[in-house]
Amino acid sequence: MYFNEDHNALRATVKRFVDKEINPYVDDWEQSNVPLHDLFKKMGDLGLLGITYDPKYGGQGLDYWFDLVFLEELGHCKADGVPMAIGVQTHMATPAIHEFGSEYLKETYLKPAVAGDMVTAIGVTEPEAGSDVASLLTRAVKDGDSYVINGSKRFITNGCQADYVTLLARTSDDPGYHSFGLFVVPTKTPGFVVNKKLDKMGMRCSDTAELFFDDMRIPAENLIGEEGEGFIIQMKQFQHERFYALPGAYVSARDMIDMTVEYIRQRKVFGKPLIAKQVLRHRLAEWVTQLECLKQLTYHIVRMKMEGLDATREITMGKLFAGDLVFNVAHGCLQMWGGMGYMNETLISRKFRDSRLLSIGGGANEVMLEVIAKLEGF
Ligand SMILES: Cc1cc2nc3c(=O)[nH]c(=O)nc-3n(C[C@H](O)[C@H](O)[C@H](O)COP(=O)(O)OP(=O)(O)OC[C@H]3O[C@@H](n4cnc5c(N)ncnc54)[C@H](O)[C@@H]3O)c2cc1C
Repeated sequence: MYFNEDHNALRATVKRFVDKEINPYVDDWEQSNVPLHDLFKKMGDLGLLGITYDPKYGGQGLDYWFDLVFLEELGHCKADGVPMAIGVQTHMATPAIHEFGSEYLKETYLKPAVAGDMVTAIGVTEPEAGSDVASLLTRAVKDGDSYVINGSKRFITNGCQADYVTLLARTSDDPGYHSFGLFVVPTKTPGFVVNKKLDKMGMRCSDTAELFFDDMRIPAENLIGEEGEGFIIQMKQFQHERFYALPGAYVSARDMIDMTVEYIRQRKVFGKPLIAKQVLRHRLAEWVTQLECLKQLTYHIVRMKMEGLDATREITMGKLFAGDLVFNVAHGCLQMWGGMGYMNETLISRKFRDSRLLSIGGGANEVMLEVIAKLEGF
């Protein structure tokens, strides 16, 4: 209904890329990490890292339906850590530069990210500040033509391999939301330390780092937008991050259902294939219904974005709904696989581990509920 032959061509390109350049390697990457420079360069060459971005900076200048197609196809990756790493590059660390960055920042940092020559990370979360972003302690102090950065960030995706971190830091002690700056922080700057690569239950192919900043001096021109507006800019950037998660959630969950149906068709229990059990078929039917609701909400969000409307409320609802739904599907499918589902050789066990993150990362469910309650005036 919404897709013409250009959308279909992009879908075919991304599908081919996932089938040839990602899925054959994910088992190895789960043991080490996705080689981001290599992967992103290939994606940059195909124009996949800046679908909606201005062609002046290497983007495709395409609309949000193309973005949706791109994200839906990434949902077929056989390890969710790969689309997460890609999503950081396209929907989490660069939208603010595209929207609010100076010409200098776009030329120097956005363009190479879109080309796949630089790997990016987004640095918001800290040991003492996760859900409560405004309580973060990392500081950026203006000193002549520079800012001097001190502090730390935790759980930073792509953090071990990033060429720069889009970093939220405090620029003043004044209470409220106008005391922050969002900066482009090159990781080659002296004082940048990857303190630790973190060991996780899922998303194992994605590198997640603890970062330290020790008297890092960066040029003042690396500030995105105005000083004092960093928090507001990051809240807007979060809308891209949360939207990114939706298409992948319903596509990945549908893949889990399809692989499970295939298994329970041939798995005989009490003399009959498991699929003969009505209770299982009804459970599958219920999930498919819920996934269709998520998909239709996502399409509604795309329509709103196409009209230039603020979709914060709908994106927040989608993120909340998707987090629980994708994990319920993973959990329920694994149950249908029985002991085989518990084996690492079975993809559903990885999907189960990977899918647990969505209701925590990018704002936990309770944070989504707070946002929705506020927007509804409750
Ligand atoms: C694998 C992984 C990758 C990540 N990647 C990045 C990244 O690239 N960049 C980045 O900046 N961050 C990243 N994060 C951090 C992520 O966004 C945070 O983990 C998340 O925002 C929650 O913060 P927290 O872990 O500090 O939990 P806390 O803030 O300590 O909260 C703990 C729990 O408390 C509950 N809670 C929170 N607020 C409320 C409330 N108001 N009412 C009731 N209950 C509440 C929630 O259930 C929450 O899960 C990543 C995290 C993980 C695990």
